[in-house]
Amino acid sequence: MNKEFSANRIKGMGTSIFSTMSRLAFENNAVNLGQGFPDFDGPLWLMEEAFKAMKEGKNQYAPTQGILSLRKAISDIQKKYYGMDRNPDSEITITAGATEALYSTFQALINEGDEVIMFEPFYDSYQADVILAGGIPKYVTLKKPDFNFDFDELEQSITEKTKIIVINTPHNPTGKVYTFEELEFISKLAIKHNLLVVSDEVYEFLTFDNAKHIPIATLEGMKDRTITISSAGKTFSMTGWKIGWAIASDKITESIRKVHQWTTFAVNTPGQHAIANAFSRLDEYLPAFKKEYLERRDLLLKELVSTSFSAHKPKGSYFMMVDIPKLNIMSGVTPDMVNDEEIAINLVKNYKIATIPPSVFYGKSDEGKSMLRLCFAKSNETLIAGAKNLRKFK
Ligand code: PMP
Ligand code: GLN
Repeated sequence: MNKEFSANRIKGMGTSIFSTMSRLAFENNAVNLGQGFPDFDGPLWLMEEAFKAMKEGKNQYAPTQGILSLRKAISDIQKKYYGMDRNPDSEITITAGATEALYSTFQALINEGDEVIMFEPFYDSYQADVILAGGIPKYVTLKKPDFNFDFDELEQSITEKTKIIVINTPHNPTGKVYTFEELEFISKLAIKHNLLVVSDEVYEFLTFDNAKHIPIATLEGMKDRTITISSAGKTFSMTGWKIGWAIASDKITESIRKVHQWTTFAVNTPGQHAIANAFSRLDEYLPAFKKEYLERRDLLLKELVSTSFSAHKPKGSYFMMVDIPKLNIMSGVTPDMVNDEEIAINLVKNYKIATIPPSVFYGKSDEGKSMLRLCFAKSNETLIAGAKNLRKFK
């Protein structure tokens, strides 16, 4: 068969770097600080909630928009933590993880040729989703060392075709937490140019030190312009449960639900019940959760001091970027030829440590080539073993 059956819109799309690096970690029996998932389970009581729901017969299709008690719980969190009034009937949709919320949102909003601005390094599905929807990604760089962006660069990237600005705070992969001033600038531009903002907040409860998570929807004039996306996977250390949501005005929600009904129709029922019940315990759950992640971050930072990799201390999320040591990388390689992908392959194969080479998260700048992303959602033993292997690389 020499006929080309694949659709044009998927041409050029490769395998996700997360799958690639986890496969290499497995094949090489390497410590995995690559793909972002905890190497421990979330709380036992949450598993028991899911089993309880199953035993109570909550095993058939949920309503397409998600079960009401979960939508209400999300609405309550929005009110309690951020002072936002969100209608659970018309403004909240439960999706198969944040991944599906993002996909359904972009499919629902983008027309052929619409431009979507995203900050690089970006979470890889934004770029793929925008392309799949017929849109054109445009990039604004979060620059080392603080991963701040140039306000002028953002303003100048807006054209008459721009429809959406995508933000992610706390940020994967850099650990940046957007400040009020940054969010205010983005909001003012969105209002001035009549744009929407897609705000990915899956790490909303993972901030450290004095960083504070501010949902952009809370800024003046932004509630109806923002599509807020989040997920229970990170907050409860159960990434495989894939329960996420999109919060938006009723009109935008109507559009998102149109795509969602033909994408997954509904999300697994017992998991929704379990997460709805878990949210009623959020207040008591969060302090220990945050403390444990802070300890993991600090342990990895401490362990990295005696390696040749220098870390950019993250203020949120469970990732950190490290600079690749520039000297003695490989014989014949000069500092300006540092290439994250080559180094990551070398590390996983020869040093038994899997990382994520971040250059795939950039569409414009070469900055990613000089760094690697490490995930610290791992047990102390894994973090120590990972750093031990990194230490051998000079
Ligand atoms: N957005 C970001 C920034 C992420 O890091 C991830 C996954 N870790 C997702 C979205 C996808 O979330 P989910 O697993 O709920 O689909
Ligand atoms: N979000 C996770 C990460 O950043 C990966 C999720 C996935 O593999 N799709 O590593």
